[in-house]
Amino acid sequence: MLHEKLSSIYDNVLRRNPGEIEFHQAVREVLDSIGPVLGKHPEYAESKIIERICEPERQIIFRVPWMDDQGQVQINRGFRVEFNSALGPYKGGLRFHPSVYLGIVKFLGFEQIFKNSLTGLPIGGGKGGSDFDPKGRSDREVMRFCQSFMTELYRHIGEYTDVPAGDTGVGGREIGYLFGQYKRITNRYESGVITGKGLVYGGAQVRTEATGYGCVFFVDEMLKARGTSFDGKRVVVSGSGNVAVYAIEKVEQLGGLVVACSDSSGYVLDEKGIDLALLKQIKQVERGRLDTYAQRRDHATFVPGRSVWEVPGEVALPSATQNEITGDDAATMVANGLVAVGEGANMPTTPEGIKVFQEAGIAYGPGKAANAGGVATSALEMQQNASRDSWTFEFSEQRLQEIMRDIHDRCLSTADEYGMPGNYVAGANIDGFRRVADAMLALGLI
Ligand code: NDP
Repeated sequence: MLHEKLSSIYDNVLRRNPGEIEFHQAVREVLDSIGPVLGKHPEYAESKIIERICEPERQIIFRVPWMDDQGQVQINRGFRVEFNSALGPYKGGLRFHPSVYLGIVKFLGFEQIFKNSLTGLPIGGGKGGSDFDPKGRSDREVMRFCQSFMTELYRHIGEYTDVPAGDTGVGGREIGYLFGQYKRITNRYESGVITGKGLVYGGAQVRTEATGYGCVFFVDEMLKARGTSFDGKRVVVSGSGNVAVYAIEKVEQLGGLVVACSDSSGYVLDEKGIDLALLKQIKQVERGRLDTYAQRRDHATFVPGRSVWEVPGEVALPSATQNEITGDDAATMVANGLVAVGEGANMPTTPEGIKVFQEAGIAYGPGKAANAGGVATSALEMQQNASRDSWTFEFSEQRLQEIMRDIHDRCLSTADEYGMPGNYVAGANIDGFRRVADAMLALGLI
């Protein structure tokens, strides 16, 4: 049940943003947590902080025309939603995937506000992307698309304004083309305008690994809080992209055994533990499909068209996409001996799934907290760009680990403070919200 004041705010969000179901879901999850905060802080309601947070500061939608390798003109749609800049310049990734529409960009941008706040670093929240599908496109096509996308986006971004990064479908290759075009149009080598850059042109150590590593560090803290560790644990990961690959790498370093991972065609089961070098070769070098993994590793099997969540595991790291764990999946996972969930992806668990995890007493780390390592390391990249410095891998990883530990501890202590011990969802939402709300109050009605 929503707090009375929040219920009418939520009704307004539904009315003003018709059809944007993922955005509704993300707003609802935050509103469900922050009722008790309003009791302690009536000034937030008086200044209509929540109504203001639910309305993006600026939304940009634009045409992206480009030419494919056959000489045909293609048209895509580009988005940038600049959601909240109370804490710093808008910061959040770009997603290139055919499912992208305004509702997805707004859900991601909304989540990003609280995630960025949780990191304790000076970054606001935003998100963008396009319905362009890089899958199956040549490097030249991807480059032409990125150049056209940036030819509009460049006028809206800047190191003090809005700083994009990668997300689904946007990795090192795309960031390079985007930064190249920005530099060319503006005639400025403004490294801090985008993060996730290659190491040879202003990127930071550990940024590529940060979301996956950070998620595993977060789960490690949750396990420690319960007196256990990754050592010897059976782990299931969804996805096999940027987040999934580096989550698998860190789990293996911490002594866990990852037995399965997936892509949108199915999952691979490898009881001896995923061979990371082979996975990287197929996914990062060849840009291939996961069935190839089973073809090259005798004892592994590829299971097409089914959910990876049918594979028993003590730790689950959903790292593919939103709403990939349903209530039924969650019930199966709990029955199969699940202990902890760390969300590498954004909003991968449906509200029904979250309820199942929480009622079963699973250590459940929501994406807002568990995958904040990516954006935190982006903020460190901005810091290094601003001071024309570059840190070592070891130092950067240590900073990431400290940040994840701090986020974990603040989620727990905030949940305690509000009488919901062990509830990382409430802890993350309340802690993230309070910092943004206080900054908005301080900045006046803008
Ligand atoms: P990638 O594009 O690198 O990889 C995405 C992976 O998920 C691919 O293996 C893809 O398979 C799979 N996938 C996508 N959609 C589906 C689906 N409907 N069913 C099954 N598998 C699917 O993206 P990232 O790893 O960067 O991002 C993954 C998630 O992590 C997203 O939710 C993103 O928002 C979140 N995230 C990413 C951050 C980052 O730093 N990159 C930071 C914080 C969160 P296929 O190739 O077949 O499509």
